[in-house]
Amino acid sequence: MVEDARKSSTPEVEGTAGYISPYPYLEKLQPRMDERLDRQVPRGGTYCAFCFGRLKKEATTCGFCDADISETGTTTEIPQEVLRAYLAKKKTEERWVHAGAFFGLTIASVLFILLIGWAPGFLGHPGVALAVLIGGGYVLAQLFGSIIGAQIGYRRGSRKRDALWERYLEAREGTGA
Ligand SMILES: [Zn+2]
Repeated sequence: MVEDARKSSTPEVEGTAGYISPYPYLEKLQPRMDERLDRQVPRGGTYCAFCFGRLKKEATTCGFCDADISETGTTTEIPQEVLRAYLAKKKTEERWVHAGAFFGLTIASVLFILLIGWAPGFLGHPGVALAVLIGGGYVLAQLFGSIIGAQIGYRRGSRKRDALWERYLEAREGTGA
């Protein structure tokens, strides 16, 4: 009873940005797929036929989803549908980072105008206003973009990716509607 009360009163923060993917291997594959989407790695290769993780030459189990390669087999191409799921995560996260940074810069710009136009004495000095615009703009863009926006984008993007993967798995296994 005491255990339960303490558990429910403490919000559990697990995973990255409070989201745990039901498919841990997608999380491991995301940076690899990002590279692929950015065309930083060659298209060809040998991939796990279950999760499409790139396999090492003599691998007997997949380093991403732990599948037994002798059972799941290999493939030389990643389906577009699968790449699109990773792209959805990447784009969503990027959009939130950019939107957050823009929001931060907007706040700094408004502060700048307020200081220039209405601030009394020292605060109204153009040098102070400019420092707020540049320094504040940087800090606020980081805060709303790289910190807050990135976390929201990460959660939303991961959910999108995981849902697309789930749909792909269902279709592949022939149980999808
Ligand atoms: Zn795999």
